[in-house]
Order: sequence, then structure tokens, then C-alpha cells
Amino acid sequence: MRRPLVAGNWKMHGSRESIAALLAGLPKLGGVEVVVCPPYVYLPEVIAALHDTDIGVGAQNVSEQQQGAYTGEVSADMLRDIGCRYAIVGHSERRTLYGENDEQVAAKFMAAQAEGLVPILCVGETLAQREQGETLTVINSQLDAVIQAAGIKAVCSAVIAYEPVWAIGTGKTATAEQAQEVHQAIRQQLGANGEGTRVLYGGSVKAANAAELFAQPDIDGALVGGASLNSAEFGEICKLA
Ligand code: 13P
Repeated sequence: MRRPLVAGNWKMHGSRESIAALLAGLPKLGGVEVVVCPPYVYLPEVIAALHDTDIGVGAQNVSEQQQGAYTGEVSADMLRDIGCRYAIVGHSERRTLYGENDEQVAAKFMAAQAEGLVPILCVGETLAQREQGETLTVINSQLDAVIQAAGIKAVCSAVIAYEPVWAIGTGKTATAEQAQEVHQAIRQQLGANGEGTRVLYGGSVKAANAAELFAQPDIDGALVGGASLNSAEFGEICKLA
């Protein structure tokens, strides 16, 4: 039995004021695990504010390096030190806008796990790839790059997020059937060790479409962008998981 997980990826949004309001409205739920991923600079205050709750906190990125002369980077050790539990790795915005390749994503994945953080590993195809019928091949190879580097057991102990690039921030959600097809393929690739691995869906998730997605057998929750900036909407999504 996999415990559902709903994670809010706030991306580069918010201020101290808006984040305080958002935190005050976060749901307090038992069954579902709730995680928020604020911008780096707000992590300490979000961790402090959620200290007495079950809501976990994750970073949106992590350096593949341990320490040293890497201006602007933040290490897994630092994230662990301040009380982060999760780190998103390989988000499509990092892959596309900042040129992260599969090798770097795998290195970040391993750096996070080495410090005891749980990576939320994102995979997803572009619209062109879907239209070419390449969806499952693309997902398979993005996942395989990390499996080859980190090992299957390590990947199975992480969280996987399937985020079709064409569904991110576009208002176009994958249908529940489209998402389930990919989630099932991911679980097959993970094999016997992947029974307990949580595979989240991400891409224009909102309260109005969450129930149908969560009803699929291989969808264990969501990685929510835009809708996670509204605590009432995010709370609704969490309740549905
Ligand atoms: P949206 O929910 O805004 O489409 O973003 C999804 C996402 O990228 C979460 O990581």
C-alpha cells in the first residue's frame, strides 16, 4: 500500500508576506503526505513554520557537487542541515531552460540521496515527442539514465514524478488514461522493487481534475505547480489524494 503524496512546487513565486498567508492555509490531513517546495531563500522560515506539523519541505533543485567553488549552488548537505526532506531533481524547467542533461540529473539524484534527502525525480516528454509516438521511449531513457548511475534500488526508494512538458503551466492536463499508461510503464520499468514506489503526476493539476487522476491504479499523488500557490485549491487537491 503506497501512501499518497501531494507536493507543491512553488517555483519562483512568493514573498515573505504571501508565503506566510499560504502556510496558514495549508491543510492538516492524516492519510496523505503533503510536501511544499519553496524557493531556496524561504526554506528556513518555511521549515520553522511547519515544524510542528506533518507537512514536509523540499527544495526545488540541488547541486550535484558536495562543496567548493560553485557560485550560486546549494548542496544536499546544506539542505539536510536546515531540515529539508525532499529535493526535486530533473524538473523539465531545469532540463530545458538550464540545460541539465540526464547525466547531471543522475548526479544530482545521487548527491541528494547520499545526504538522506528523498529525490523527487521528474521525467516527461515534449509535445513533439508525444506526437512522434516517442513518449514511452523518452520516459524509459530518462529513467534508465538514473537507474544505470544510481542503481534500481536507489531509484525505487525515491519518488518519481511524471510531468509531460506540454501539460506544465498550460492548463492542458494529460487525460487520466494518458497518465496511467505512462505511470504503468514506469512501474514496469522499476520491476519488483517498484511496488512501493510513489509515482506522482504533474502538469496542470487542479481540484477539478485531481480525483480522476488519483483514481488511476498507478497514480500515487501529484506534483502541483500553479495550483499549489492557492492554499484552498491545494488543500482540495490534497484531500482528494
Ligand atoms: P503546473 O501545475 O503549474 O502545470 O506545474 C506543474 C509542475 O511543473 C510541477 O512541478
